[in-house]
Amino acid sequence: MNRRPIPENHKDYSQPILKVFLGYFRPHWKLFALDLSCALAASLIDLAFPLAARRAMYTMLPNKAFEAFFTIMAVFVVAFVLKAVLQYVITYWGHMFGVRVEADLREDLFVHMQSLDYEFFDKNRTGQLLSRMTGDLFEITEFAHHGPEDVFIASVTIIGAVIIMFTIQWKLALLILILLPIALFIVLLCRSRMVRTSGEVKVRLAEINGEIESGLSGIRTSKAFANEETDYTKFAEANEEFKTAKCENYRAFGQFASSLEYFMSIMPVAIMAFGGWLIMKDNMNYVDMITFYLYISTFITPIRKLANFMETFMNGWAGLTRFMNIMRMQPKVTDAPDAVVLTSVEGRIDMEDVWFTYDEEKDVLRGVDLHVSPGETVAIVGPSGGGKTTLCQLIPRFYDVEAGAIRIDGTDVRQVKKDSLRKAIGIVQQDVFLFPDTIRENIRYGRPDATDEEVKEAAIKAELYEDILGMPRQFDTYTGERGVRLSGGQKQRVSIARIFLKNPPVLILDEATSALDTVTESRIQGAFDKLAEGRTTIIIAHRLSTIRNADRIILIDEGEIREEGTHEELMALGGQYAALYRFSVQ
Ligand code: ADP
Ligand code: MG
Repeated sequence: MNRRPIPENHKDYSQPILKVFLGYFRPHWKLFALDLSCALAASLIDLAFPLAARRAMYTMLPNKAFEAFFTIMAVFVVAFVLKAVLQYVITYWGHMFGVRVEADLREDLFVHMQSLDYEFFDKNRTGQLLSRMTGDLFEITEFAHHGPEDVFIASVTIIGAVIIMFTIQWKLALLILILLPIALFIVLLCRSRMVRTSGEVKVRLAEINGEIESGLSGIRTSKAFANEETDYTKFAEANEEFKTAKCENYRAFGQFASSLEYFMSIMPVAIMAFGGWLIMKDNMNYVDMITFYLYISTFITPIRKLANFMETFMNGWAGLTRFMNIMRMQPKVTDAPDAVVLTSVEGRIDMEDVWFTYDEEKDVLRGVDLHVSPGETVAIVGPSGGGKTTLCQLIPRFYDVEAGAIRIDGTDVRQVKKDSLRKAIGIVQQDVFLFPDTIRENIRYGRPDATDEEVKEAAIKAELYEDILGMPRQFDTYTGERGVRLSGGQKQRVSIARIFLKNPPVLILDEATSALDTVTESRIQGAFDKLAEGRTTIIIAHRLSTIRNADRIILIDEGEIREEGTHEELMALGGQYAALYRFSVQ
């Protein structure tokens, strides 16, 4: 796999939405111009035909000028072939333009999301983010090319036709000029109601999908409690609401379709009535009447297009606003302009009077002082919710401290390039994330340029090699979604193998074995011991038996260090640690 560097994005998202949006058109302006000029040419052909037909009816039919008449008709047969070609270009290249804008938008959004902090992902659901990456962007690009194209074609055709009509018979043209805005207004009004109700349908659909999902994925729990009726009730309510929303939507659709239909058919009637009167008054002739008929038939498509545009615009703008909201979020944890690259790390960690809060309400860490020398193994224990995980996440700067400082080898982590800092730290957590890929690629994730041989060595060190040999396709075995095909212990050893490949000087084990049973835990303890060798190691442990041999043990409770010392010292102290320890080995 060829690794690609992450592209830099220099767009200024603080500018007005429309300006930023048009900025995405710029690299593809040639396609856009092609799209619009073909659209213009197609409308001109539409406008030209009734005019030419009128001329033919005036001069050629009365004189029986067969040759000239059929030449003109032949010209239009060819012109409409040309229009078909133009239509192809508009549809194909217009969409190509959209696809390219969409790809750019998606790339910028993905790269931007990648740059956002833990905090952002704490607050947003993956499912919603995913729907923004797909649904919203699609709506935006539909708007990007159909918008200008449809509005352009429709206005050129309608305005052009009205102007020509005025030159033919201004009274009849005036009637159309009055009818047309009324028709457009009512049709667009109905369409906007359709957009609103279809938004409601989307919301209800998401809800009912949620109910079905939780009903099915929780089916085992539901059966165990014999609670099918409760689940059915929730489902039935959501189903009812979904049904109502769909009914509303179809009602709006019906109104839209019938009003459009009505105005389409009332136009010819109006022309016949008023035009007929003009003819009887000798103010107009049949040829002009026919020409008018030809012109109003060119209205149908533009009016439909404008009605569609209404929908693309509303959806696209909503998507664009959500896109901009994300793009305007700034990551807080960024490289300082004078940040240094961390090289040959020894692994000393100093935390000085560290304060931290997630939500401004409660201080999760309150003045923690902790100094770890290179190569030392420090265990952190304490009641759940005390702030152990939080403390460890501050070292690689997943969050920044509120007050105080964390230093690595004496340099404040905020003065170090994030990449180099994180390359120096290996983290193993309770739940391991495996990518839906082969076991080899999952291990290689620790260092993407590692050779197969190195991957194998890492697997051996992590005591995973024999397990892999026993798998159906060895290193090529597919691990399944989130690694469902591996046991908990195997997954944990994949993450150990990753760290062996990464080979960082600092190691953080955050309840790495808590999810495993004690037998599995003691079996892979050897792999952990080997991993910790020669590295500064911070172990958060749930089962205190596993950290007895740590150089130092720190007890954290309510964000403060309460006790500190070796196992023997703390036992002799007879405080919180001693109580926890006695309780856990009972
Ligand atoms: P420990 O690892 O010791 O069990 P944590 O560091 O996970 O404790 O949590 C400390 C406190 O911070 C808890 O009160 C917890 O509810 C809160 N907390 C943890 N993670 C978050 C988060 N992402 N957003 C908000 N609060 C959090
Ligand atoms: Mg924790």
